Amino acid sequence: MLRDLIYLFYPIYCAACDNPLYKNERVLCTSCRHELPLGNFHNVNAKKIEKVFYGRSKIENATSLLVFQKDSLVQNLIHNLKYRGREEIGEELGKWLGYEISQIPDYQNIDAVIPVPLHKRRMRERGYNQVERFGVEIAKKIDAKYIDSVLKKNSYNKKQSKHGKFYRWINTVETFGIKNESLLRNKHILLVDDIVTTGATIESCVNVLKSIPGIKISIATMAITE
Ligand SMILES: [Zn+2]
Repeated sequence: MLRDLIYLFYPIYCAACDNPLYKNERVLCTSCRHELPLGNFHNVNAKKIEKVFYGRSKIENATSLLVFQKDSLVQNLIHNLKYRGREEIGEELGKWLGYEISQIPDYQNIDAVIPVPLHKRRMRERGYNQVERFGVEIAKKIDAKYIDSVLKKNSYNKKQSKHGKFYRWINTVETFGIKNESLLRNKHILLVDDIVTTGATIESCVNVLKSIPGIKISIATMAITE
């Protein structure tokens, strides 16, 4: 009854197509659940995603729930998650991918899920790290710990250069550091992020994490660009 009233006054919209949801639908409408382009990298397309990381860093396994294209449902979905306060999208995608990989032997010996961290300033602006709930849900599904106290984002490395009377910001370099590294010693971790485009962010994280003795690293993201 209360839910009906809430629904009447505050229709809830699909996170991908922005159409109103039916009462039995949650976060995504039925049509989007069927139409969103799945990567299936953990099943059949492993070679495709390995290419993104090939020759860069040694990783165990990599997967992504969705394939990202410009002006697509996936783009709107990620936009809603990052810029329109719809934090529940991360949770929904985490449940989805978490269930998928819990069926795959390669992902069954993972000890901990580690989110790519957000810089403190960005965190304040947005109010949440968009990959947190994604990571938490995956961890639950594969029976791993969620650990966000090891990998840290360093301060913005922006350098100012003066052109005439204008300052321009150049060289935004993301750098990461680690704390409490003993938590991940000899562990197989799953590094999670929202979207992979060039793979540079993931690569920076992997390079820092690799300094931890005995660590093995796999990767899971919400979406990857084709
Ligand atoms: Zn929809």
